[in-house]
Amino acid sequence: MLQDEITYLKGVGPQRAEALFSELKIKTRADLLHYYPFRYIDRSQVTTIQKLSGESVAVQLIGKIISLKEIGVGKSKRLSGIFRDDTGDIELVWFKAPRWLIQNLKINETYVLFGKPTEFKGKYNFSHPELELLDEARIAHGSELKPVYGTTQKLINKGLNSNGIAKLTRSLVDECKSLIHENLPEEIIKRFRLMSRSEAIAQVHVPSNQQQLEAARRRLKFEELLFIQLQLAKQKLHLTKLERGVVFQKVGELFNRFYHEHLPFELTQAQKRVVKEIRLDVARGHHMNRLIQGDVGSGKTVVALLAALLAIDNGYQVCMMVPTEILAQQHFSTLTTLLNQTPVRLELLTGSTPRSKRRHLLGDLLQGELHFIVGTHALIEPVVQFKNLGLCIIDEQHRFGVAQRAQLWKKAELPPHVLVMTATPIPRTLAMTLYGDLDISVIDELPPGRKPIVTQWKSDARRTEVFQFMENEILKGRQVYVVYPLIAESEALDYKDLMDGYESIVRRFPLPKYHVSIVHGQMKSDAKEYEMKQFVEGKTQIMVATTVIEVGVNVPNATVMVIESAERFGLSQLHQLRGRVGRGGDQSYCILMTGVKVGNDSKTRLETMVRTNDGFEIAEVDLQLRGPGDLAGTQQSGALELKIADLAKDQVMLSAARELALEITDEDPDLTLPKNQLLLEALQKSKEARSDWSKIS
Ligand code: ADP
Ligand code: MG
Repeated sequence: MLQDEITYLKGVGPQRAEALFSELKIKTRADLLHYYPFRYIDRSQVTTIQKLSGESVAVQLIGKIISLKEIGVGKSKRLSGIFRDDTGDIELVWFKAPRWLIQNLKINETYVLFGKPTEFKGKYNFSHPELELLDEARIAHGSELKPVYGTTQKLINKGLNSNGIAKLTRSLVDECKSLIHENLPEEIIKRFRLMSRSEAIAQVHVPSNQQQLEAARRRLKFEELLFIQLQLAKQKLHLTKLERGVVFQKVGELFNRFYHEHLPFELTQAQKRVVKEIRLDVARGHHMNRLIQGDVGSGKTVVALLAALLAIDNGYQVCMMVPTEILAQQHFSTLTTLLNQTPVRLELLTGSTPRSKRRHLLGDLLQGELHFIVGTHALIEPVVQFKNLGLCIIDEQHRFGVAQRAQLWKKAELPPHVLVMTATPIPRTLAMTLYGDLDISVIDELPPGRKPIVTQWKSDARRTEVFQFMENEILKGRQVYVVYPLIAESEALDYKDLMDGYESIVRRFPLPKYHVSIVHGQMKSDAKEYEMKQFVEGKTQIMVATTVIEVGVNVPNATVMVIESAERFGLSQLHQLRGRVGRGGDQSYCILMTGVKVGNDSKTRLETMVRTNDGFEIAEVDLQLRGPGDLAGTQQSGALELKIADLAKDQVMLSAARELALEITDEDPDLTLPKNQLLLEALQKSKEARSDWSKIS
């Protein structure tokens, strides 16, 4: 049976079974069948050293390692080998080579090498190539396509390298293929021309040829994406169409007066569209669960405020939750100014709200005398109770856990409407999966009159020029940020860079004419706050900092952002940093400093930054470069742990799966029709396997 433990599978036994479970969570035969290869070696495709070129992607070579030695000291210590085929020699390098590798590599035996050649000082080499003895690679796999499985050191020690796992899956497929049931209705299989499930699983482990393998992978990807989308579609239906919600029937006095008399500017078309989407949502009698995506500065706050006024107009209370104290204060003061002329009562609640004030405030909240409360996590605590909470606004969504948000819902009889705002744009396809159960509004337009930030990429060699530019801006009365990278792995060195940089800036911009602030993580928090304040108040002209400034500071007079060692930052981080300038009416600049030579991915990142200010476009490039798991805002999301589909590469298929899922749930929300029986069963199974991501918002 497929649910039997693999211990009893030929070639496994208790020790290997234990290792498979602890390392890969493989317990049953079914688990192993669903452990797919991550790559295939096409043994017919072998190239030669002579033919390598700058455009080479990953290639396969056959040849011998003729020498191997450890060279260099300290950080540059590495293992270096010479690999030779009939056409020439090439260097292989391993940084931090593990002992087992050094011990196992055999000189003068024929290997199949797989890897991506890199150019270094005009010559090619391979760093960390995959190597396999030719004899082992020859083990018959039924075709030229050999599956490669992910494995770990512990498994390799138990004889389960990729080949070892291949042997197991192969015998498992032989034994169990007939037990693998179809889980998609005939109609869908026909319509999308899919391979049967049992054939696909067999082919993915033991492919007969490239074509069959492609068909198999397509079938399994489609299935995977469809079930995720089905589950999200069902959830969305329940959250937004089937679940009863508070009704904000009228657009009342507060909203209208504010809109016509107090709004300090005209809304952009994008803002108007989103406000309208919200208005329709909250009047329907169903629960609103909406995500607003909009780049930094796109004007989300005022949209949220208008939604809040709708709620208050209809006799409901509103809470706005933000991730940090600084942000809470900033929002509170912005909102206070905007609501100045209105009778709305607004208060701030954070961890540092004094006790007496807090008691007062909680009392008023319970009595319904307080309309609108802004705060941090403090809002979640059970003592915070509302008379009739109608709307929850959550800023910077990804910093709050699911459980925390659920706590807020419980504070009202009917679940309050939910508006989530995020300034981390994510690509559309990713949003479909991450937030597939939410409605999504996009503010894709900046308020008029903003001058796009000019971004330039300069090498360290042009530092004098950059300093001159900074000086010119400062003489115009503007302020400048200089940001240094700081990552845990190289912290000591990074601090040294930061301090060296700070000293050279102070030397170039000396007292009494110039004042330079510095802020970094090793300072005490009151010292940090003092320095920040000096800069915010314009008493210092230059702020030298690590990425601590990423969130929360708003200094409209700052017009220059210099990012040091920019090649070491991720794209979304660069974009967020750039968002610190361009907040006032003056032309702003972002200068990306790097060494003379940078790697290919870094080059793509820097060129993207220079080319565009559009956060969505940047997110799309980031997705292609890094894959979905590493994008900002997507961490810890079970929804991204896909077995075979790839959200960056399979976007077309994802859209098809989503449309199909919506079509199915539209007709049959609970999948009770006989034709959807298979889907329902499979969905229940996959839900058990992924219990952790049932409620994303
Ligand atoms: P974010 O989307 O990053 O939260 P904010 O809501 O803080 O952006 O808005 C950024 C700035 O733009 C604020 O100073 C706000 O007053 C201003 N703003 C928002 N909407 C408009 C508009 N339609 N026209 C002009 N200025 C606007
Ligand atoms: Mg904001």
